[in-house]
Amino acid sequence: MCIDGPTASGKGAVAKLVSEALGFAYLDSGVLYRLVALQALRAGWADDRLLSENDELQLAQWAAELDVRFDGEQVLLNSENVALDIREERVGNMASKIAVSATLRSALLERQRAFAQGAGLVADGRDMGSVVFPDAPLKIFLQASAEVRAERRYKQLIAKGFSANMVDLLQDLNERDARDANRTQAPLKPAQDAYILDSSDLTLLETVDVVLKMYAQ
Ligand code: C5P
Repeated sequence: MCIDGPTASGKGAVAKLVSEALGFAYLDSGVLYRLVALQALRAGWADDRLLSENDELQLAQWAAELDVRFDGEQVLLNSENVALDIREERVGNMASKIAVSATLRSALLERQRAFAQGAGLVADGRDMGSVVFPDAPLKIFLQASAEVRAERRYKQLIAKGFSANMVDLLQDLNERDARDANRTQAPLKPAQDAYILDSSDLTLLETVDVVLKMYAQ
């Protein structure tokens, strides 16, 4: 099953709970983009860097060589737990910037598809239904208004002990939406056979319930 949608639409939390309810594996594809972004930041890339052809090759190489393991809540990159680091806003912003690279996106394709071995998979991201898993039995495109999404992101960050402010978050979110929508490779849009679900007025558990009912049909 694929759950795609814009940044902070709640797809991650929904996808995780749905995967647990069904006993399926869970792929948060954004983590892979965030891990490559973390490598770029650690290599000293500025967040306004204009990607050259060589940069794109470097990104693809980092993606191909990613030594990552998921262990419960831990995300182990070369055995270092970076679960908190990859949730920082600067990492999310860098992830959004490098995600425009077609070279990087294709380098991550097979790695994402490899998660589909086994009983079942719930994959969340931007292009799970449209590009990575075109034959998935159920595709959902989770929407919510920008204001609701900014508020959710704000609460998430505060709960994790990060500082945040709504004005900056809303601006970041609009910029990320624009980059996701306007990139030439896999721009964010629902797959043709996706159900569009607006969760602005739904709680997390209500949204999970709707998704599980759709799956059962
Ligand atoms: O979902 P999350 O915010 O963790 O993703 C980080 C960034 O990675 C997003 O802003 C998006 O631009 C990019 N991304 C993507 N395709 C995916 C998952 C994430 O382009 N399948």
